[in-house]
Amino acid sequence: MRLLALLLALVCVCCLPRAEAGHLPLVYHQVGGGGGVTLGLDVATLRRRVETLRAAGYLFVTSSEALRFPASARTASLRFDDGFESVYTLAFPVLRDLGVAGTVYPIWERVGQPGYLTAAQLEELRGAGWEVGSHTRTHAALVDLTPPSLTRELAWPAGAAPAGGCLAYPFYLQDARVRRHARAGYACAVAGTFGVSGEAHALPGPLASPWDDWLLPWRAPLGADLRVPALLAGAGLGALGSQDAPVAVPPLWNPAAHELLGSGAFSLSWEGGVRDTRFLWRQGGWVLGLNLLRGGASYSGGTLAYHVGGPLTVAGGYGSAGPLGAVALALGGYGEVWARALPGSLTLGAEVLPLDYLRVRAEYDVVTRLGRAEGSYALPLRPGEGRPLRATLGYDGTPYAGVALRVGAHTAALTTRLDRPAFGVRVQAVW
Ligand SMILES: [Zn+2]
Repeated sequence: MRLLALLLALVCVCCLPRAEAGHLPLVYHQVGGGGGVTLGLDVATLRRRVETLRAAGYLFVTSSEALRFPASARTASLRFDDGFESVYTLAFPVLRDLGVAGTVYPIWERVGQPGYLTAAQLEELRGAGWEVGSHTRTHAALVDLTPPSLTRELAWPAGAAPAGGCLAYPFYLQDARVRRHARAGYACAVAGTFGVSGEAHALPGPLASPWDDWLLPWRAPLGADLRVPALLAGAGLGALGSQDAPVAVPPLWNPAAHELLGSGAFSLSWEGGVRDTRFLWRQGGWVLGLNLLRGGASYSGGTLAYHVGGPLTVAGGYGSAGPLGAVALALGGYGEVWARALPGSLTLGAEVLPLDYLRVRAEYDVVTRLGRAEGSYALPLRPGEGRPLRATLGYDGTPYAGVALRVGAHTAALTTRLDRPAFGVRVQAVW
């Protein structure tokens, strides 16, 4: 129960940097689809949003202008991802009327395609004070790409690179490798819900909600979006249950994870009656981790990792199985190798991306002789949607296979044992 309270407190702390920052980004895509949701904002709602926030004292700025305001200033920005033509035909006239400039993040490959903005429309928006950022070349999930492909995806097209332009990560997905690439070519980059306080390349991008007519004045000052209650519910579910079961050596995770981590992650998985909950929260070079096992085995522990610089991350922590220490080394943008020691366990592991869309993990405990090897591949389906379907094959004493479906920054996965009927499920959210 104390851990549950700690988890809840942490989730709340995550929200605070946004509230302190005073900047409220509103993330939309298409305009004119009816309703006030992120994917189909109608123009009357758009007008109301601006008027509501102005009445609450907000000044409308573009994505990179927001960086120039002090933390105490109340600023808001309207961000339109993907570069739909309706941003020009429907949103632009309303916002011009209101004297507000938005920020549009086009997918460069789609500029000039039916339904998308043309180069001339982008130019006209820019001339009217709008900011034109980048939503990458093809809208790939950047965390699935190797360094050469990251360079290609993040390159500004010829003539389109304004000084101080910003990047919107597709699906809000980023990791330390992606952030390094973004820092090389962009003044700022927008990530998922919470972002990281003071980090221009992990700015928050909270989701709009269908109930923002009455919710926005409440959630704006708090900096919260609908993922906060979902996260609280998940954290509560993970911590529920008796801790009377025998204490287990914690699963083979990497406490010094940094290279393949965005701004935070939450995952909850069930297999064989055991519930495995993990929470990671990054603030600058620090990563706080919480791990809970409930069911047939019990473990509760926390870790603190620090990215020393270059490829090196170190971590220490304490849990039901005693103290632990860990170290991870990044592999030049292709992943990381790590080692973890705790009483009765010494684990060596690696997680690498040898090719685009292929992720290989291996872990082995030299004391308990337990290990796992797993390969997962994002199938070449719906490439513009970042290949959301992934197939996994692995071996951890018995063979298993799985599929995972990603929607935005959320993933649901199903695993089955290949030698006997047994299933596992996992849900994960990253930001
Ligand atoms: Zn997008």
